[in-house]
Amino acid sequence: MSEMMNHRCMYCTFVYDPSFGDPEIGIPENTSFDDLPEDWICPECGANKDDFKPMAKI
Ligand SMILES: [Zn+2]
Repeated sequence: MSEMMNHRCMYCTFVYDPSFGDPEIGIPENTSFDDLPEDWICPECGANKDDFKPMAKI
């Protein structure tokens, strides 16, 4: 079971929020970061998934 955590790009300020998904490329709401396709890239700067870090919820 994957956690629904926000993930932040290391190279820009983009944050992937699972509750929004990535509608521009057809990723539905409530898609966890782990469930994104392996070839998903940062919509802002093109960094790949390995360049994202989980953000602790405060
Ligand atoms: Zn980025």
